[in-house]
Amino acid sequence: MPLIEIQDVTKVYRMGDNVLNALDGVSLSIEEGELVAIMGASGSGKSTLMNLIGCLDRPTSGKYLLAGKDVGKMGVNEQAEARNRLIGFVFQNFNLLARTSAQENVELPLVYQGIGGRDRKRRAISALTRVGLGERLDHTPAQLSGGQQQRVAIARAIVGEPKLILADEPTGALDSKTTVEVMRLLQDLGKTGITVVIVTHEPEVGAYANRLIVVRDGKIIEDKHQEPVAA
Ligand code: ADP
Ligand code: MG
Repeated sequence: MPLIEIQDVTKVYRMGDNVLNALDGVSLSIEEGELVAIMGASGSGKSTLMNLIGCLDRPTSGKYLLAGKDVGKMGVNEQAEARNRLIGFVFQNFNLLARTSAQENVELPLVYQGIGGRDRKRRAISALTRVGLGERLDHTPAQLSGGQQQRVAIARAIVGEPKLILADEPTGALDSKTTVEVMRLLQDLGKTGITVVIVTHEPEVGAYANRLIVVRDGKIIEDKHQEPVAA
């Protein structure tokens, strides 16, 4: 069973008399452990597709099965619950809380899940160690480099043990050396069975993926498996 199964999905925006097909008949299935890069020009529908995969939005028509469950048939609460349990998000600008330590930033999703203090601490330290920041638990974002901040954000994304990481331009704010570090980390997650889907407009970043999907005008125009470059 694929982790993600999207069947003939459309997303239509209507503004007055204008109809815009942000997604126009997209079908896609992604297996566990794949590292997928979604590429395409600005306005091609990448974020719309990511929001759909991330259960942040619903399609106008078509079907989306996440881990075998029909997201369209879930209520709002059930959808939020699936999102919290199955998906970790990584953003271009890290979205860390300022003046808050790396450890506390990583603990945050566990606070929302109602997990107790001691368990939170243990899991946050373990996630930060996994991204190579076990020695910087007390550092605030301002005391960390961009690459380190993105690694904290990745620790925050994995601390809840999700099946899927969604990253919209995760290296967009990073220089090329730190980009490699972040992509190595995302490749390593794939090797442990976590599925990673990233949006990027940089071909060098797409080269680290096992699979490259190109969207244009709300359609998938290319979908190919490739031998990834080792980060
Ligand atoms: P990308 O992420 O590839 O730049 P988007 O998925 O953000 O593209 O947008 C795809 C198309 O849908 C664009 O033409 C955009 O203007 C339009 N769009 C996205 N969100 C909305 C919205 N909430 N209302 C109306 N149009 C939207
Ligand atoms: Mg976008």
